[in-house]
Amino acid sequence: MSYKHVGTAGDLVRFGCALKVECTFCGAAWTWNGVDVYNVHGNRQLTQLARRLKCRRCKKKEAKVTVLDPVWPSLVGTDRSEPDA
Ligand SMILES: [Zn+2]
Repeated sequence: MSYKHVGTAGDLVRFGCALKVECTFCGAAWTWNGVDVYNVHGNRQLTQLARRLKCRRCKKKEAKVTVLDPVWPSLVGTDRSEPDA
């Protein structure tokens, strides 16, 4: 299984992934688990979601999102390739 197939908030929940959000303007970063993303924004494409997220610190909409590996132990270690930047 490859996490590169994670394209929506629903996929985050399905695969147990978290989402790292970074502000490219001021450098602030925070992490959401997939369930929270889904509850707040619905089953949205992550690329669309990035454009809607507002930075908590500088209020700019300059977010970049990165899918983090699943937290489920049974899935860890099968694919350690780095996500595309
Ligand atoms: Zn910011």
